[in-house]
Amino acid sequence: MKVSVQDAAPQAEETLAKYIQRLRAECTSTQKELSLKAGIHIQTIRKIEAGLTNRLNQKAKSGLAAALGIPQDYLDAVVKKVPLAAITALKFCPQCWTPGTTPDPMWTDLRSKYCFACATALRNRCVDCHEPILSLKFKFCPYCGASYKQVVRNA
Ligand SMILES: [Zn+2]
Ligand SMILES: [Zn+2]
Repeated sequence: MKVSVQDAAPQAEETLAKYIQRLRAECTSTQKELSLKAGIHIQTIRKIEAGLTNRLNQKAKSGLAAALGIPQDYLDAVVKKVPLAAITALKFCPQCWTPGTTPDPMWTDLRSKYCFACATALRNRCVDCHEPILSLKFKFCPYCGASYKQVVRNA
């Protein structure tokens, strides 16, 4: 059974440990099943669920996101303890958006995945270093200096 996107979103004040436990329970998988599905060591999952670690490396993050059927942003939001909206709302079309301007509300809608005008996949993280975009007032990624606006041929 797939968890619905609404329920899958982290709740306010939810810790990474609680969040992973909850999602895993909703998918009714064991720690071992989750570890196999996510391609990460069961020890890592035990540590996360025991609240012994609040860090996820890129591999654990993408593995867990895929296994639990959630966007990686959800995990970012929990790990960084920021409201989900702060992460997911910053989306834009890398083709149509003019850096420094307010992004169209059609892009920032939580349900939007593709640009309404050109169908390019919307972006909310840096293409180069995959750090979430913190402010659309920036024209370049503060972490690696890549430009947020990009001409992508086949997104
Ligand atoms: Zn577009
Ligand atoms: Zn970057």
